Amino acid sequence: MESWQKQMQNHVHTLDALKKFINVTEQEERAITEMHTRWGTTPYFAALMDKNDPNCPIRRQVVPSLLEQKNTYGLANYLIWKENRATDEVRPDSIARQYQDRVAFTVTDVCANYCRHCFRKELVVDRELQLRFDVEEGLDWIRGHPEVRDVLITGGDPFLLSDDKLAYLIDQLRNMPHLQMIRFGTRTPIVLPQRITEGLKKVLAGRHPVPIWINTQCNHPKEITEETARAVYDLLTCGVNVGNQAVLLKGINDDVPTFRKLHQKLLTVRIRPYYVFYCEPAPGIDHFRTPVEKGAELVRDAIRGHTTGLAQPMYVIATNIGKIPLMPDYYIMDKNETEYTLRNYQGKTTKWPNIPE
Ligand SMILES: *Cc1c(COP(=O)(O)O)cnc(C)c1O
Ligand code: SF4
Repeated sequence: MESWQKQMQNHVHTLDALKKFINVTEQEERAITEMHTRWGTTPYFAALMDKNDPNCPIRRQVVPSLLEQKNTYGLANYLIWKENRATDEVRPDSIARQYQDRVAFTVTDVCANYCRHCFRKELVVDRELQLRFDVEEGLDWIRGHPEVRDVLITGGDPFLLSDDKLAYLIDQLRNMPHLQMIRFGTRTPIVLPQRITEGLKKVLAGRHPVPIWINTQCNHPKEITEETARAVYDLLTCGVNVGNQAVLLKGINDDVPTFRKLHQKLLTVRIRPYYVFYCEPAPGIDHFRTPVEKGAELVRDAIRGHTTGLAQPMYVIATNIGKIPLMPDYYIMDKNETEYTLRNYQGKTTKWPNIPE
């Protein structure tokens, strides 16, 4: 198996390198040469792209598009607003806060794949926004906030840090008595499964009273390979659960068969669907967005009842005031003093007795 460091050294981020994997279209070539944007992926993920189809679901997440220059519906200074960076509470740049008991802690702005639909695009991809990700400063802030019991380490992709840095981070957090869990958001099981090494397993493993949870991001069944299955299995053997946070993406996973297959296939490699996010109104990603209702319709038509409850994510919009669930609401047809009329996924109805308060 090729090492993850080698995957990063051979990162595909020039036109010439890309041409070794796909037949680049004229539009794609123009986007790459004309736009100032950070782009690129691992050779592993690049090899999953369709050579000839520019609409390949993986290719659209990897290769820049001229459509990114258009912005009709996106909000200016999106990330500052979304992550409450302009509020009165003084926090380091590395800490984003929407909740009392948990925070997002950004430790890097480097990624293995620069997703074209990234909601942190201004920071991670286009780099118009400059923030300081000082790990010590972030740790000090968390240390001084005993109401925080859950830290979500994010980026960028935190698993691009070295084993030593991750070990230090975990150790420091576990030494704070108020912390009850540590979470990582990392796309590496999908875009760089080679990162899940014996060394990393040693860093993560152990039945420590402060558990580690991981959420990855997989948006299409094509992204799941034997390598993904191996990486996830190895994480589970360390006592680390792996969930998925998909992004609803127009033309990629917004149809019933793909949406269902994605969630079923995730379970076959032991990844538990957690969230499906509405694609956020960051500037320059209008072409990835659907109407808001679309996600709820897909949960209703593709997975509710059609497949196991284990495959059911919660459909949410991640707003500046926290995540807001927008699940389909069609089950209660009628209700009176004594009974409910309930409808199932096939439209069949049943009666259920009610108990007065
Ligand atoms: C998403 C997010 C969290 C974690 O939310 P959960 O619903 O607990 O997964 C915490 N803080 C911020 C700023 C977030 O964006
Ligand atoms: S891995 Fe996450 S942070 Fe990095 S570009 Fe993709 S969506 Fe953005």
